[in-house]
Amino acid sequence: MTGPHPHAHPGTRPGGGAEPVTLPATLAARPTDARRGLPVPPVNEHPDPHGGPPCVDFTTIDTATAIHLATERRCSLCGEPIGYWVGFLGTARTAELGQFADPPGHPECQRAAVRLCPHIMLRHHRRARDDRPGAGMIPPGSHGDKPQAWVLGITRDYRTMFLPEHGYAVYLPAPFRATETYTYGPDGRLNTTPVIRRR
Ligand SMILES: [Zn+2]
Repeated sequence: MTGPHPHAHPGTRPGGGAEPVTLPATLAARPTDARRGLPVPPVNEHPDPHGGPPCVDFTTIDTATAIHLATERRCSLCGEPIGYWVGFLGTARTAELGQFADPPGHPECQRAAVRLCPHIMLRHHRRARDDRPGAGMIPPGSHGDKPQAWVLGITRDYRTMFLPEHGYAVYLPAPFRATETYTYGPDGRLNTTPVIRRR
């Protein structure tokens, strides 16, 4: 095996629930949401049909932007080129199937997303209706019921498949070289120290 270790990311360290989240520089450089000061991923900026500035909606991924970034091997969270390792964040089920509805990104950006997004951090977090636009970083893979666990799968490559009949894409990662599984504690808070498996 060649290349850097899947977990060799300076500046990121999993673990410690209450510690402040250190943002990767590329994510910190993103525009921030006015309500919470969270970085706005490019895939959550939606073109205004009336030609105004893009509308921020953390709950929806803009398919065209997502496909464009994935095709150029750029991170869906910060927009910058993805390096050696590419990450996919989803539910345990998504990881098992190997099909992700959410586009790829830097593993370090996704680790930050896991810790920043209230929807991921708190198992029973509910979004108020008026809380939707700009509510926080959208949990990738959260298109349904609240999962039992979140999995960050790390690999080298992937394929992007556009499904015209559905109007969205699915992302098919190569077999994962490592996975980080995050589960909820009895208090309903996400344990930010993942179980790491290397393959
Ligand atoms: Zn990134």
